Amino acid sequence: MTILVLSGTREGREIAQALHARRARVLASLAGATRNPRPQDVPTRIGGFGGADGFADFLVREGIRAVLDATHPFAASMTARSAAVCHRMGVPYCLFQRPPWGAGPKDDWTPLAKEEDAAHHIRAGATVFLATGRQTLHRYANLAECYLICRQIDEVNTPFPFPNGEYLIGNPPFSVEEEVDLFQKRKIDWLIVKNAGGAASFSKLEAARYLGIKVGMIERPGLPDVLLKSDIEDAISWALHVDG
Ligand code: NAP
Repeated sequence: MTILVLSGTREGREIAQALHARRARVLASLAGATRNPRPQDVPTRIGGFGGADGFADFLVREGIRAVLDATHPFAASMTARSAAVCHRMGVPYCLFQRPPWGAGPKDDWTPLAKEEDAAHHIRAGATVFLATGRQTLHRYANLAECYLICRQIDEVNTPFPFPNGEYLIGNPPFSVEEEVDLFQKRKIDWLIVKNAGGAASFSKLEAARYLGIKVGMIERPGLPDVLLKSDIEDAISWALHVDG
């Protein structure tokens, strides 16, 4: 019987790898959002399951014994759907989420309930660095008086959706020095970030702190009522326990 690790995050990778190393039968799942995901030494499937029914069929067909959901904290529909299907089918389910970031005394963060709210705080003429991905880019249409720079991992083949901005291609992780250098060169006034948590992508927030750049922090979506782990070792132990 197999443990399914819903991944797409650094921690999902670590958890799947640790389970594999401990000889648990594990299958990692990626949505296929990134064109060239980093290869890993763990059996991996790529692509959506085909909605709730497809996911339910998959669980049965593949003999999935437990689901460890380590998707991104903003992959809210995947988490809600997976939790509901597992609950309905009696498949043990655990959600791993990294703790959210919190502002320190030297940070200038504005919490945002949704992307559209950024426009209430940012003055016309500002240069805004969007570290929030392409999927939600359309939600910044009301920042028409600002210049927008949206960073992407993969080359984008379609034009930027607004006249007032551009894509910037960059492959993480980025060091604090690299982020400082970039924000200075591009004269960034505001940084918009999803509260993803985790150490790897905190460097942009350290750079913003160092340069005194204002940050719009998009708050996390709400969670379903599920078993939640925020420590990687706890999540691994849970999976080994249900497997054993
Ligand atoms: P989402 O809106 O919650 O899910 C959209 C659909 O993508 C799901 O219904 C499912 O398709 C498919 N999917 C999502 N995660 C999957 C996985 N691990 N394996 C197989 N299919 C998956 O998700 P999203 O926000 O687009 O995120 C997609 C992936 O990118 C996730 O794996 C997430 O961990 C990663 N990611 C997301 C963000 C973010 O900011 N949202 C940031 C970094 C990484 P079906 O209905 O066909 O099964």
